[in-house]
Amino acid sequence: MIHVISEKRKKSLLSLEKRHLTIRDERMIRTLKIQDRVLCSARDFLSKEGFLQIQAPVMGPATDPGLRGAKHAIVDFYGKPMRLMGSMLLHKQMAMSALGKIFAFSPCIRFEDEETKETGRHLVEFYQLDLEAKGYDYEKIMDLGERLVVHVIKYVRKHCKEELEFLGRKLGIPKLPFKKLTHEQAVDICRELGFDISYGEEIPWEAEKALSEYIGEFFWVRDYPTGSRGFYDKIDPEDPKKLRDFDLFYPEGYGEAISGSERETELEIVKMKMRKAGVETKGYEWYFEMLKFGTPESAGFGIGIERLTRFICGLDFIWEAAPFPKVAGVVSP
Ligand code: AMP
Ligand code: MG
Repeated sequence: MIHVISEKRKKSLLSLEKRHLTIRDERMIRTLKIQDRVLCSARDFLSKEGFLQIQAPVMGPATDPGLRGAKHAIVDFYGKPMRLMGSMLLHKQMAMSALGKIFAFSPCIRFEDEETKETGRHLVEFYQLDLEAKGYDYEKIMDLGERLVVHVIKYVRKHCKEELEFLGRKLGIPKLPFKKLTHEQAVDICRELGFDISYGEEIPWEAEKALSEYIGEFFWVRDYPTGSRGFYDKIDPEDPKKLRDFDLFYPEGYGEAISGSERETELEIVKMKMRKAGVETKGYEWYFEMLKFGTPESAGFGIGIERLTRFICGLDFIWEAAPFPKVAGVVSP
């Protein structure tokens, strides 16, 4: 598909090749100062909620396979294949089984399609604040997620007044609790907005952006249809047609902020879902053994740090929210 890349976007993408110089731009400096406060306040919040911070893995024999079309990076590990983390989803479950409530600032490598240059919200290398909590259900983890986001926004408003003013960003404090839509309701609205989309899959990026503009405040979309997401999202025992999972969306067209769910812990169900989705099971031997041994029920989510920074700073493109951004097809330092 041929896309028309706007002049502004073209110029901004070109500047990435000169990041060794453009990192000194005043807007970049203010953004990185805000990002530091975002990380600091999120860590503080989670520590007070009883979460332990762990170091994230960079590679493993298996990583999250559900990357919406993005490809894994595979490196040669002494003659054996190792995957760079697309997300530390499986490893989060492992750490949670030992420590209960954990989080990490985890590096993610996803070879996104070159078209993602158009979305302004996809990087090839990015960080998630990734967390998992033993014994939580999805209501409880969504509640934590919205309080986390509001805490970070309040903190940045209070401590980064000058930076926000410099960037021209007027940042309101979102009202709690956030609105919740079921996936079906969200698809209904998208269809009313003119997007011919199906009830059986995740919401496509363009519709997601329109929905995020239309709703005008933070909102959750919950209960995705079974089969539409990764095998680790738990099937609702009371209604097997849906999953106990969710996404959080920013307002103003910034799109998806968070994805998360309660986790599937039954080995046979996981294997069946992997088979149905055609996931190659090589590399998952340790994961299967972990589930067979017994893994606690848990729920968790990941929130993209650069997307959060982009929203807070009101930036046009996600690559303005990372010190060393890598965008599909663009070679930069
Ligand atoms: P996912 O599990 O794919 O939904 O990813 C979790 C979160 O990471 C998303 O909700 C986004 O905030 C963020 N994220 C996912 N993919 C990317 C990407 N290519 N670039 C930047 N952030 C991303
Ligand atoms: Mg997602």
